[in-house]
Amino acid sequence: MSWSGWGDPAKARELPEPVRALLRDLLGVRAPGAPAAALEEVALPAVALAEPLLGALAKVVGDANVLTGHEARVRHTRGKSTPDLLRMRAGDGSAAPDAVVLPGSHEEVAELLRLCSRERVAVVPFGGGTSVVGGLAADRAGFAGVIALDLGRLDRLRSVDEESMIAEFEPGVRAPDAERLLSGRGLTLGHFPQSFEYATLGGFAAARSSGQASAGYGRFDDMVVGLTLATPAGTLELGRAPKSAAGPDLRQLVLGSEGAFGVITSLRLRVRRAPRERRYEGWRFASFQEGSAAVRALVQEGPAPTVLRLSDETETMIGLAKPEEIGSGGSGGCLLIAGYEGERVGGRHAAASVVLSRTGGEPLGAGPGEAWEHGRFSAPYLRDSLLAAGATVETLETAGFWANLPRLYDAVRLALLGALGSPLVMCHISHVYETGASLYFTVVTPQDGDPVAQWERAKAAVNAAIVAAGGTITHHHGVGRDHLDAYASEIGPVGAGVLRAVKAELDPAGILNPGVLVPRG
Ligand SMILES: Cc1cc2nc3c(=O)[nH]c(=O)nc-3n(C[C@H](O)[C@H](O)[C@H](O)COP(=O)(O)OP(=O)(O)OC[C@H]3O[C@@H](n4cnc5c(N)ncnc54)[C@H](O)[C@@H]3O)c2cc1C
Repeated sequence: MSWSGWGDPAKARELPEPVRALLRDLLGVRAPGAPAAALEEVALPAVALAEPLLGALAKVVGDANVLTGHEARVRHTRGKSTPDLLRMRAGDGSAAPDAVVLPGSHEEVAELLRLCSRERVAVVPFGGGTSVVGGLAADRAGFAGVIALDLGRLDRLRSVDEESMIAEFEPGVRAPDAERLLSGRGLTLGHFPQSFEYATLGGFAAARSSGQASAGYGRFDDMVVGLTLATPAGTLELGRAPKSAAGPDLRQLVLGSEGAFGVITSLRLRVRRAPRERRYEGWRFASFQEGSAAVRALVQEGPAPTVLRLSDETETMIGLAKPEEIGSGGSGGCLLIAGYEGERVGGRHAAASVVLSRTGGEPLGAGPGEAWEHGRFSAPYLRDSLLAAGATVETLETAGFWANLPRLYDAVRLALLGALGSPLVMCHISHVYETGASLYFTVVTPQDGDPVAQWERAKAAVNAAIVAAGGTITHHHGVGRDHLDAYASEIGPVGAGVLRAVKAELDPAGILNPGVLVPRG
């Protein structure tokens, strides 16, 4: 993984000429962005942890698993949001941990949490490091130091129960490895977020991730039937039946807890038979409004496809246009991708096609569906080239009930236009429910002299707009630090008090990922 960008540096993408023309002619990007620092130029604070403390950590996990070298610290500084990347490119390593610690078992995690509570060392659980909400940069104030608890050594498939269709994994398993480990048995999780190549199962659970095939396989939190959480107060072992009436479901308290309540050391996940058949195709709708109504009809009446993604007019134009059409302003309507996987593909496709035709859709055949499948993990690679070219590109998301979705869509767009002038704002719906859907926005704008501050202003405006328009501050990226104030408004003072009480019970010294998720009192 590139330390200052996305993904495998060998897969870095040059900007195609039509995109350069779009930046120049439509957005007015004139000057390239600041050149990226070299890894050795990143300025890190001195290691704050004293030698005896580093020795005590090494006693738990072994000398080889406590890293204080420059590269290890740089690679565990922040996540992969655009402000994170801009700061890393500028050589700003001020949020680096003092040490990276790699436990090899639940017992080692538990021992580390006891030690760090005693010594007031902040602990940031670190999975794939793909957080986009500031989830990995701990507040240092009041602590002897900060460690990144890298879960990469906890990377095993522990067991598979094919009768109940449950697989037990350690949390540091990356998504492609999980699929590889299951594929030998003809099984799949069906969880394919755009960060698939690098994110871990523990990170998916801790941030309530949602993948591109969520219409068919559900969100990641739907897949978790049980888990083990190591906390400073002891171990929580949860989930002994698919559903239970034994009080509130405490699994839900751990899902989305972003490392603030404990460290997930084991996950029991529902698995599915790997699909033998897949079929993806495109449909055209005259407008986003018409397409949204079609998506709603499909998900409410059935049969819902496995993948459902509707782009608005702007995203459709940018994604589909031939080079000479980019920036022409013409509306080619909206593209919907429908994908069917698993059983009865033919029958489901036929029934869904009736609904899509009835609601105004025009079939475009397999071409757009296959193009989407081919490029489904490649978009993030373009971001680094756009940053270098002088454009800021970032994504943000929300969700709401169907009746409120148009208001939410307008509110986010207006906030972005108000804060950034004339940015390019694209949107799609790709996570759908009977009662509502998420809206996922991509924004491209020319960088000003301080692109981090420029984006933070825009983001603050959007957060306020989402709260005012009655949406949730996040559908699948999580709260982290970036959404904390808006989240506090969303849950109100009583909700915030509940979170603080849980934190005080499980993590009395407050060492776990300080600053994320839990609103200050
Ligand atoms: C290019 C790109 C595309 C993305 N696409 C999607 C997408 O399609 N869908 C989506 O849902 N998200 C997406 N994300 C966001 C991100 O990938 C998810 O939030 C993912 O769940 C994070 O997993 P991770 O292993 O990288 O976790 P990290 O980033 O390492 O950690 C995320 C949070 O979880 C905590 N944590 C991690 N592991 C544990 C553990 N074992 N126990 C307790 N806490 C833990 C961390 O402390 C942190 O607060 C994208 C991000 C990027 C950069």
